[in-house]
Amino acid sequence: MTRLTRPDLDALPSYVPGRSPADLARELGLPEAIKLASNEVPYGPLPGVPEAIAQAAAGVHRYPDMGVVALREALAERYGVTPDRVATGCGSVALAEHLARATCLPGDEIIYSWRSFEAYPIIAATTAATSVRVPNTGDHRHDLRAMAAAVTDRTRLILVCNPNNPTGTAVRRAELDEFLDAVPDNVLVVLDEAYREFVTDPDVPDGLAAYGDRPNVVVLRTLSKAWGLAGLRVGFLVAAPEVAAAVRKVITPFSTSSVAQAAALAALRAADEVRRRCDLVIAERERLLTAVRKLVPDVPESQANFVWLPLGERSAAFGAACERRGVIVRPFPGDGVRVTVGTPVENDAFLAAAESAL
Ligand code: PMP
Repeated sequence: MTRLTRPDLDALPSYVPGRSPADLARELGLPEAIKLASNEVPYGPLPGVPEAIAQAAAGVHRYPDMGVVALREALAERYGVTPDRVATGCGSVALAEHLARATCLPGDEIIYSWRSFEAYPIIAATTAATSVRVPNTGDHRHDLRAMAAAVTDRTRLILVCNPNNPTGTAVRRAELDEFLDAVPDNVLVVLDEAYREFVTDPDVPDGLAAYGDRPNVVVLRTLSKAWGLAGLRVGFLVAAPEVAAAVRKVITPFSTSSVAQAAALAALRAADEVRRRCDLVIAERERLLTAVRKLVPDVPESQANFVWLPLGERSAAFGAACERRGVIVRPFPGDGVRVTVGTPVENDAFLAAAESAL
């Protein structure tokens, strides 16, 4: 057949949808299966969010506010910046793609640590940029010195995932200071802080507070995790006004829907409840880490809402064994398994599954 699409896309992994808990429960004859595979917070939508969605439903025959004015103002106020520094997108993953589009021409380089967020290689490839992967350190962390050393005159963008998905590890203040001082001013550094709300180590800097004044730093956040809006797709970035304006130009028009804008505004009003829920997740994370370290050696720290089991070649079999016991986790074959922190009952079910699987 005549080739109609770009041949370089053949090398990209296709998206493999996670197992649906309802299907798995039916197959196993269980009342329900447990999904600990996508790093959501398990406590349902925040109070006020379903009502805001219902109200917004009455207006869905109209286009959303393309400037996302009210939400950008609310985000700007919460994070202590001006609205011209904020852009929202269809999840922060879309904003990462828009940042690549706003910085890279074909053949330019995007540096990121590996293993990190699976979307990064896809974003680089679809932008026709070159991926420069810097291996994680032996303890599953970004090697920031090696990342700085990988900069060339083709480098346009560096993605720093802090805490890192899927390993949960985080880079600290001193190493980030040194890294940002070493990176040339004309290279944009994205601090992808999708899991910021789960960080407990005071030495892991809040990118906005620590580096928000640097013109070449962009902080990427999401309302999908701590804020409970994964299904509605709202992410945002804070950048220098010129960078935010350039990103807003390349955003797919209307990609923050009217329902998403209304829900996000309601979620932001429930910040106290977000803190309470994150504290529950953090307490469970520590309990899970202690328990799982008795089963798997070398489980790294986690500053996120998931833990990483470096099971290497056993990862796929471990994932399958957990599924047979009604618990869906996220194996990265040949490397490790990521397990999202769930409710205490869900985590106990995972620990029981893990114990018998191992
Ligand atoms: N960054 C990281 C590090 C992530 O893990 C995720 C979600 N898995 C995202 C960004 C994207 O989140 P969303 O598009 O839902 O905002």
